[in-house]
Amino acid sequence: MKIYVPRETAEGESRVAASPDTVKKLAAKGADVVVESAAGARSRITDAAFEEAGATIGAINDVGSADVVLKVRRPTAEEAASYGAGTVVIAIMDPYGQDEALAAMADAGLTAFAMELMPRITRAQVMDVLSSQANLAGYRAVIDAAHEFDRAFPMMMTAAGTVPAARVFVMGVGVAGLQAIATARRLGAVVTATDVRPATKEQVESLGAKFIAVEDEEFKAAETAGGYAKEMSKAYQAKQAELVAAHIAKQDIVITTALIPGRPAPRLVSKDMVASMRPGSLLVDLAVERGGNVEGSKAGEIVEAGPARIIGYTNVSGRVSASASLLYARNLSAFLETMIDKDSGALKIDFDDELVKATLLTRDGKVVHPNFAPKAS
Ligand code: NAD
Repeated sequence: MKIYVPRETAEGESRVAASPDTVKKLAAKGADVVVESAAGARSRITDAAFEEAGATIGAINDVGSADVVLKVRRPTAEEAASYGAGTVVIAIMDPYGQDEALAAMADAGLTAFAMELMPRITRAQVMDVLSSQANLAGYRAVIDAAHEFDRAFPMMMTAAGTVPAARVFVMGVGVAGLQAIATARRLGAVVTATDVRPATKEQVESLGAKFIAVEDEEFKAAETAGGYAKEMSKAYQAKQAELVAAHIAKQDIVITTALIPGRPAPRLVSKDMVASMRPGSLLVDLAVERGGNVEGSKAGEIVEAGPARIIGYTNVSGRVSASASLLYARNLSAFLETMIDKDSGALKIDFDDELVKATLLTRDGKVVHPNFAPKAS
């Protein structure tokens, strides 16, 4: 089985889909791994390090003979057409609203898998790219904020006076939000957080931060229901919005991480809330690529918004590229290993496996995933 790892061509993509560790693992399974020259350069992995791990360094025109292509981003139509029909391609496919791109992969005859559709079950934890990348993004969001902030994060009591601790508010307490809370706490900030899932209250408090929510009878009932939150009443939502608005006016830094899979990001911070902040305040919108949680945020830019600035960096996990590649490569190789026959070392895909069913986008010239297949007219 020949595995090809190309250099990513998408603008600003600094990650790579293999690491020396995963090359070793795959080579041990009998795979012949070819890595395009300089594929790891932006993640500080040299060609020599890949070679030492057992890979061959190749050129992009070797890709046509590969059985498997490991990528970070979905291949362009041109790239897809350059792979042989039947090639397995595994990547972050960003499939929502991308009918044309998915059709291009189907037309090229690719067997394409979307890593972000991996079910969040125990067996697949090691393959969970959403978590591995969100964790780093949450960390980096705080580091980016600290870098742009004109004040210190920790309280400093000095002979010349006291510098107050920065106040950081994290909105959305999933994987990214939890890491943002932990990172801001490590830097000495006073941290608060909110989420629509009452179950997150305990997680926030266990990290030494304060949970911000209207804790009335309705909230308490939702809290004990556990798991995912039930839809709260309109009256509750209005009270919660009022509380959050008053809270934001007193914050130095707001980090928003709220996403809803397959849908535009919820709008959490209005222009008026941004305008209510103190001079020098910052907002980091980690949902900017999904439409943004903060009104006025722009993908790839730092926007001046009255007293505050809104940081809208894209591909934030890629801003910690070496770590992001390490974890992403491991997510990929763990998934690929489930498709390798133990005895022969050949590719053997079980199309009834729940991981395969959940992530398979295209096969035999068709978009086959039930959520993305063209609807019969
Ligand atoms: P996500 O990236 O989809 O969203 C981030 C957070 O934003 C979520 O906590 C969500 O509740 C919150 N949010 C959505 N709308 C909001 C709003 N209007 N206001 C405030 N917050 C809002 O989430 P995620 O990081 O993928 O995690 C989602 C859940 O999945 C969590 O419970 C997490 O612990 C769980 N998870 C499970 C596994 C596993 O079992 N293997 C792995 C990772 C995450």
